[in-house]
Amino acid sequence: MSNAKEYVQAIQEKLHQKDDGQIEFLQAVDEFMPTVIQFLEKNPEYIEKNILGILVEPERVIQFRVPWQDDQGNWQVNRGYRIQYNSAIGPYKGGLRFHPSVNLSILKFLAFEQIFKNSLTGLPIGGGKGGSDFDPKGKSDNEIMRFCQSFMLELAKHIGPSIDVPAGDIGVGAREIGYMYGAYKRLKQYDAGVLTGKPLDFWGSKIRTEATGYGLVYYVKHLLNEEQDSFAGKTVMVSGSGNVAIYAIEKVHELGGKVVTCSDSGGYIYDPEGIDLDLLKELKEVKRARLTEYAKERSSAEYHENESVWTLKQAADIALPCATQNEIDGQLAEILVENGVKIVAEGANMPSTLDAVSVYEKADIWYCPGKAANAGGVAVSALEMSQNSQRLVWESSQVDAQLDEIMATIYQTCRQTAKEFGNEKNLLLGANVAGFEKVAKVMAMQGLV
Ligand code: GLU
Repeated sequence: MSNAKEYVQAIQEKLHQKDDGQIEFLQAVDEFMPTVIQFLEKNPEYIEKNILGILVEPERVIQFRVPWQDDQGNWQVNRGYRIQYNSAIGPYKGGLRFHPSVNLSILKFLAFEQIFKNSLTGLPIGGGKGGSDFDPKGKSDNEIMRFCQSFMLELAKHIGPSIDVPAGDIGVGAREIGYMYGAYKRLKQYDAGVLTGKPLDFWGSKIRTEATGYGLVYYVKHLLNEEQDSFAGKTVMVSGSGNVAIYAIEKVHELGGKVVTCSDSGGYIYDPEGIDLDLLKELKEVKRARLTEYAKERSSAEYHENESVWTLKQAADIALPCATQNEIDGQLAEILVENGVKIVAEGANMPSTLDAVSVYEKADIWYCPGKAANAGGVAVSALEMSQNSQRLVWESSQVDAQLDEIMATIYQTCRQTAKEFGNEKNLLLGANVAGFEKVAKVMAMQGLV
């Protein structure tokens, strides 16, 4: 066993002991660790300095209570968190997730992934993540506002435009960011650069809402280009129906592909004619309705209640999981392969389990991990920070062109790095090594702090 392998395994074992029970965090760690062994073999100075051992410990974990009042006058309480994982290359940057499943393990996994994702964008942003186990589903607008205000009452103490810049994630969109900024403004300085994903009317960036979905499709477009192929005529399966899914569908349709599925927590839609995007946007963005309404309005669509979209057995070329973590396990991955899918690109964070990833590898299909393929969202967040510092708003075409360029660079970096380490098709290894390399180098340069 090589020195690097022993070193990495010892770190992994220690984390399994110390963070026992943090399932998602340990899963993200287990996926990452084996892929950097070869790199560490080539760069033993990082072993000598124990860079990886230091990196896996978050710089700071903040947990707080969030008391709020519901519309009936009851006093409620939820848990709030912010994980400030790594600030080597810039202020902590990453979203806030409001969902009942949120716990320390999930936020640590997300923040861990965010370090490498943000590094891959080439922009000066460190890694962080936060959120709450608050469930926005079924809450009134006033309840959402009061919750956001209470959440910010505490969070404001820990963030700032050059310290930590949160954004949205599942359950947190422009509305929530607006309420949180309103509260921040009364507590601290009037600097909207403290949050990204803001509404366009006050300091938001054009294309930010679209960025994760568009960026995902751009990443795959660059992969297809290199294989002398394109989206034209391709059948695509998408999960989710939030802004990542919606704008991935929009871009696939623009590039000549056809998306035949989408889903929400109640079930999924199969629409062989292709998803009607105007209808989907109207239901999800305006009415905040469930997908059952989609099937009622459109005769070509089937609605499958309480079933995963990935159980669907229909021929498809590309899969874009855009819902949430661990939505595709080993068995569901087998179905994808049987459906003929040749590319899986992740709009969500860690939607494939470790078993699913090994199914893709065995079937020799392309696997584009979320930390590379969905980096467009945070990349445009960083562009929003730049615009806020300049007191300027850039045109859509400028932001979109920059997003496409950033995704092209991320894709090339993953592929080149994978090639350097012996397997051009291993984009997971490429993403992990390239993302880690920059952070490790900067940590070493900044010394033991
Ligand atoms: N939540 C998004 C992600 O997972 C975006 C984070 C941000 O814009 O800061 O990358």
